[in-house]
Amino acid sequence: MGGTAVETLREQLRGDVIGPEDPGYDEARTIYNAMIDRRPAAIARCADVTDVRAAVRYARDSGMDLAVRGGGHSGGGLCMVDDALVVDLSDGLRWVRVDPESRTALVGGGAQLGDLDHEAHGYGLATPAGVMSTTGVGGLTLGGGHGHLTRAYGLTIDNLLGADVVLADGTTVTASAEENPDLFWALRGGGGNFGIVTSFRFALHPVDNVGLGVTLWEPEHIGEVLRWYRDFLPAAGEDLNGFFATLVVAPGPPFPEEIHRKKMCGVVWCSTGATDEESLTKTFAPVAEPARPAFHFATPMPYPAVQAMFDELIPKGLQWYWRGDFFDTITEGAIDVHRTFLENIPSDLSTMHLYPVDAAAHRLGPMDTAWAYRDAVWSGVIGGISPDPADADAIRGWAVDYWDALHPHSMGGAYVNFLGQDEGGERVRSTYRGHYDRLAEVKSTYDPDNVFHHNQNIRPAKS
Ligand code: FAD
Repeated sequence: MGGTAVETLREQLRGDVIGPEDPGYDEARTIYNAMIDRRPAAIARCADVTDVRAAVRYARDSGMDLAVRGGGHSGGGLCMVDDALVVDLSDGLRWVRVDPESRTALVGGGAQLGDLDHEAHGYGLATPAGVMSTTGVGGLTLGGGHGHLTRAYGLTIDNLLGADVVLADGTTVTASAEENPDLFWALRGGGGNFGIVTSFRFALHPVDNVGLGVTLWEPEHIGEVLRWYRDFLPAAGEDLNGFFATLVVAPGPPFPEEIHRKKMCGVVWCSTGATDEESLTKTFAPVAEPARPAFHFATPMPYPAVQAMFDELIPKGLQWYWRGDFFDTITEGAIDVHRTFLENIPSDLSTMHLYPVDAAAHRLGPMDTAWAYRDAVWSGVIGGISPDPADADAIRGWAVDYWDALHPHSMGGAYVNFLGQDEGGERVRSTYRGHYDRLAEVKSTYDPDNVFHHNQNIRPAKS
């Protein structure tokens, strides 16, 4: 795309079009994962839906490769592509409108979770999403979305009521249970394969202060802790969420100095039921059952503060490589793998998480949405993370070796948003299991030429 082409597109859009010669180019192409360093032909910072439509048409008419940027958080940097036109939603489509009467939120396709949490919290409301405020609503929702409220209110897609979508030909449609239901089904888990979602409509729930808890145990107790967690959480009430983690303790508050930088296993809890000191003490009494915790902390906290808790610990600009899988149990073999890879963790920020996807997330049936693992209990992710580019090979090697060892203990496929950047088409198929062919049919209807292919790609059935 030469300078003249950038000029032509600039004339058609209200938002900025940033090319390689422009001063803001390096900032505009920088995304969350610093391992990704790509140079698109131009970045169209769309001001509104009309800009999105114009950018899509321009790419089609000029035969340009097209990528779509929401929050810029995908592990593989799917939103930033060499020599492509990037349709960037993160500026003009970063907005949220809450209607407290109907308990719904209309959310722009470029909003971040923190934007939604903040607006909804103003009315004592929330919808389930992830565990970090800077993640994009767009990519997270289209993949499924799980986080602190999943056991109470389901996946993010379970709370999606409708979406406005710019299709590959630049036209706009609404997808909901009533309009284009095939597209609505596919959007709920099928990723960014079908079009550009310019707005999402979500159901909200009464969530104000929640009970945050963090429990850490010494690594030698990982076996007892994982066996206890495997039995305790699925039997607990839906109001209690808790993701398991292996980690290195951050050197700062709330952790006491004697455990700083020590390897530990732990659970990060979020309760929508126990939101005062007394009920938190009662709820968390069982954490002493597997072994005496090295650290336990529980406090009532506004939900948006819980969501922003990790923002400083893992800011934009770190090296990331991750892989995932779904689990319906935690086998003895898996416990051995977790023990080994906690021992040889390659950096202070590297981690493994098991996010619960049971309880309210099991209310919808296997055919109701494109999410193909309603029978999973955990969505696991192994994240090699470091601020130092010199660690890139080490963190990638650790994550891949860990995944190789753990995969036989999994259900075979991963949450689409936890697939690594280089895993290939068979892994995408295993993510969607029996839904893949139906998704490929929907893709044929709405994007027959696979214009939207910078994602975990579902190929059109007829192409
Ligand atoms: P982007 O990189 O902008 O986009 C990712 C993909 O989605 C691209 O293919 C892009 O084209 C497409 N896309 C984005 N927006 C749109 C849109 N509006 N219309 C069409 N296509 C679009 N996931 C969870 O479920 N729960 C978590 O708790 C969680 N925690 C995370 C924490 C961190 C630190 C990180 C880095 C990721 C986390 N994720 C979590 C994964 C996250 O859901 C994915 O990385 C997701 O892809 C991020 O979406 P994004 O819009 O920020 O990313």
